[in-house]
Amino acid sequence: MINIKDLNFKELENWVKSVGLPKFRAKQLSKWIYNKKVSSYDKMTDISKDLRKFLKENTKLNNLELLSYEKSNIDGSIKFLWKLEDGNTIETVFIPERNHNTLCISTQVGCAVGCKFCFTTKDGLIRNLTTAEIVDQYIQSQRFVGLDNRISNIVFMGMGEPLANYDNVKKAVQIFTDERMAGLSNRKITISSSGILAQIKRMYSDKEFPQVRLAISLNASDQKTREFLMPISETNRLENLMALLNSLPVKTGYRIMLEYVLIKGVNDSPKDAHRLAKLIGGNKKRYKVNLIPFNPYPSSPFERPEKERVEKFQKILWQYNIGAFIRWSKGQDISAACGQLRKKELERANLIKLL
Ligand code: SF4
Repeated sequence: MINIKDLNFKELENWVKSVGLPKFRAKQLSKWIYNKKVSSYDKMTDISKDLRKFLKENTKLNNLELLSYEKSNIDGSIKFLWKLEDGNTIETVFIPERNHNTLCISTQVGCAVGCKFCFTTKDGLIRNLTTAEIVDQYIQSQRFVGLDNRISNIVFMGMGEPLANYDNVKKAVQIFTDERMAGLSNRKITISSSGILAQIKRMYSDKEFPQVRLAISLNASDQKTREFLMPISETNRLENLMALLNSLPVKTGYRIMLEYVLIKGVNDSPKDAHRLAKLIGGNKKRYKVNLIPFNPYPSSPFERPEKERVEKFQKILWQYNIGAFIRWSKGQDISAACGQLRKKELERANLIKLL
């Protein structure tokens, strides 16, 4: 049985034709699913009962079941925990900002990359998410917060390395940016990667991959520290990564974001800041730096630096005229680290099994 949300528009049209329906049904279905975000075929009131019955019997529409959620009393961010059909769980975070709403979505169950500061990676990679599972995070979250609280920005920064699930992420981006489907602005979608060189090259040379923003989880200004924090850097070396990023065709409005998790005593010294500025060198207009003070989780081996140290790091980058922003994590009063709510639920389920 096909899942409707696994299909980009061209595939949806082909499927509609293959079952003997007129072409306009593709647009009609898209409108109900991506615009009105309905949860069942029964709500598609301009579709006949017979056709709805056929769709119910031959396609799947929903994927995710909301297991639980936590809402921050401080900033209103909401962390959702979804159950997949095979029993696995994933997280999505809704982040309300002053003039827009952002959704941080997951692309894998777990992650194989193994960044030392990341909670998600603890159990390794379980599996890739399907396109429908990626897309449904957006639809169901939007439904939950209400259509008036429009989600305009999507960041692929949740669980998983998006470019390790290339085909499904590509199709999800096609669905998000297609005007006949979700119709979100390309510039408001960001794919965050740990820096897999081959996959970044592939994405930039793939004509069918809609242009979106790229964020790179950099986290260090020298090879040794990066390799310590991100073992993937052994084979995707920092100098090669920077050379590749410097060579990418970057349009106005699509500056590359360098994500830098600041960890006390590891990569947060003024020396690190100067080195980062030198690494960027004359390519200041190509990058924006996001400084993210580390968000400790239970049993985490690292600590968050003091506010003054974070601000000093930022000021040093400013001295070099580098656009640097501090992103204090949202939802400090909920399970803020990525994967933490999922872990809590797993522990609860195991406890119930033991009782
Ligand atoms: S930070 Fe991202 S890439 Fe690294 S282990 Fe965590 S989920 Fe994977």
